Amino acid sequence: MSPMAASPTMRTVTTDRPAEPPRRLTTPAELRRWSERCRAAGLSVGLVPTMGALHEGHLSLVRRARADCDRVVVSIFVNPRQFGAAEDVDRYPRAVDADVALLTAERVDAVFLPSVEAMYGEGAGTSVHVDESLTGVLEGLHRPGHFDGVALVVAKLLIACRPHRAYFGQKDAQQSAVVGRLARDLDTGVEIAVCPVVRDADGVALSSRNVYLSADERGRAVAIPAGLSAAAVAFAAGERRAGALCSLVRQPMEAAGFEIDYVAAVDGETLAPVDATAPGCQILVAGRMGSTRLIDVIRLGIDEAPLDAAGSHGSQVPGVIGIQGRE
Ligand code: AMP
Repeated sequence: MSPMAASPTMRTVTTDRPAEPPRRLTTPAELRRWSERCRAAGLSVGLVPTMGALHEGHLSLVRRARADCDRVVVSIFVNPRQFGAAEDVDRYPRAVDADVALLTAERVDAVFLPSVEAMYGEGAGTSVHVDESLTGVLEGLHRPGHFDGVALVVAKLLIACRPHRAYFGQKDAQQSAVVGRLARDLDTGVEIAVCPVVRDADGVALSSRNVYLSADERGRAVAIPAGLSAAAVAFAAGERRAGALCSLVRQPMEAAGFEIDYVAAVDGETLAPVDATAPGCQILVAGRMGSTRLIDVIRLGIDEAPLDAAGSHGSQVPGVIGIQGRE
């Protein structure tokens, strides 16, 4: 420790200078101009799309972007197009002031906070549909039209921002696969970086939706990481049958009172179902606890059992799982 750091009365400019709040951008045109200025100055741009109510999962993406890119912009937009008719977009948690404070502390350069009108002006009539093999299965079956909404907003963000890299979470494994395909098929030239799932101390994956859970439901939600851990342990011991591994995930979830939408063993890239698993295959899970729908995922032979990984998040910058869409 340097003598300066050891003295509580000494102040240094770098540690004590308050972080500046990110520049607020509110229209796609403002985002475009900001990004063009960065590019013109020879700076790389990282984009982190979110719906806000930020937590450590989101911040892990932000830190990865901060480590990789010269300039970082985080979008906060609760995208109505990705909510189904039965899903209440107005109920989705919103916490813009707290979000901006968190992003200030992470030294994010800009935050994109568009209104619905700014994103979807009157007369907009274009849709974006990624191949059914990725969008018509799993979440796509339970949330019809969801991935069309995701694809539209992500395409609009990538076009307006033209980042060098955009960051997504493995937590939403199917969404990351859909976005990777979209970025590649539309020749965006944007690299899609997928970052690992960040979990709470008890193994439950962090999610903005967790605030909907009662204390009792939150306790029972541990059944998901418990089931995924049982599958990871069995896989490590040599079990390869998809049916056997999925049963290990289902059992604790059913016992905890989850209404299961699916527990599926799939190929990590195509999301096609598999009968015999291999390292890199994923088990994707979705279920409802009361009125809250939770999703989670584990990569077999790669991820630690979630109950062991619990609480391992922190200030470190986790690695990127994979980069899709390299030119
Ligand atoms: P959302 O605000 O829920 O749309 O999430 C924005 C981004 O953060 C998406 O790419 C998510 O996959 C990612 N994300 C959400 N929760 C987590 C988590 N627990 N760990 C890692 N990434 C996450």
